[in-house]
Amino acid sequence: MNIKQVMVAGSGVLGSQIAFQTAFNGFNVSVYDINDEALERAKERLTGLKADYKEDLGTTQEAVDAAYERLTLFTDLAEAVKDADLVIEAVPEVLDIKKALYEKLAKIAPEKTIFASNSSTMIPSQLVEFTGRPEKFLHLHFANRIWVNNTAEIMKHDRTDASVFEEIIEFAKAINMIALPIYKEQPGYILNSLLVPFLDAAQNLVANGIADPETVDKTWMAGMGVSRGPFGVLDIIGLNTPYNIAVEKAKSGNEQKAKIAEYFKTELIDKGRLGIQTGKGFYDY
Ligand code: NAD
Repeated sequence: MNIKQVMVAGSGVLGSQIAFQTAFNGFNVSVYDINDEALERAKERLTGLKADYKEDLGTTQEAVDAAYERLTLFTDLAEAVKDADLVIEAVPEVLDIKKALYEKLAKIAPEKTIFASNSSTMIPSQLVEFTGRPEKFLHLHFANRIWVNNTAEIMKHDRTDASVFEEIIEFAKAINMIALPIYKEQPGYILNSLLVPFLDAAQNLVANGIADPETVDKTWMAGMGVSRGPFGVLDIIGLNTPYNIAVEKAKSGNEQKAKIAEYFKTELIDKGRLGIQTGKGFYDY
């Protein structure tokens, strides 16, 4: 593998985790964000990650300090990218912001640099034209709390070079991820392609009065031998997100989603039951 120097663009929730995980596994990492304020927040996040790694992985102070030492923070994009073999982009999920960043990077990044987007909802075709290097562009999608939820969904588009795809699979393994190759573009990658219809089906059962959430979860858990059902999962995601999605779809005439939105509103949202983070959702915590 030729990747040694990595640049992470965007140091928010995911960017800081990706940068720290990469540095923790021995790579030198440049972290780029738009201004000093953003970098100050990044320092706080990265410092918080040191504590998380110690607590959740049982790692040593020396190991997390060494990882932190391998990170360098920049507000100058050209400086940040000048030696990068790989850029991992984790800027906001807004097409215009991503477009502007890729158009700048296309001009100033070395020719060798591979670009990988961590976008959750876009597919490579939506961004590739801005990168100026279709054969060296693909998606590398991580999950929140990367150090424990260590999936890396690696999605190519039809012009991604086969050797670049292989190289990113190797890189993902090198930073201790479970590398999950995806050969064709698929909105939602693998995990959400499975999870979204599963959660939709569970919500339909409840909103249609077929069964209550506890019974649906009990059925799934006992039948599949797993520790959590769909409503337990929704509590972890937080209930505002599925509620907002249902409201949006209801607006465009989806009657089933209108029922789900109504159920969420009266049974949960209006009662301040927003999921695990608020101590109560479908369940009390
Ligand atoms: P965030 O808002 O926490 O962080 C975004 C960061 O990008 C901020 O630090 C912001 O200052 C910075 N930024 C804004 N404009 C920029 C620019 N032009 N150049 C560089 N940096 C810029 O967002 P996030 O949750 O970390 O999400 C980032 C990306 O990761 C999105 O594409 C999202 O879909 C994806 N993602 C998020 C999650 C998640 O659970 N949050 C999970 C997987 C993937």
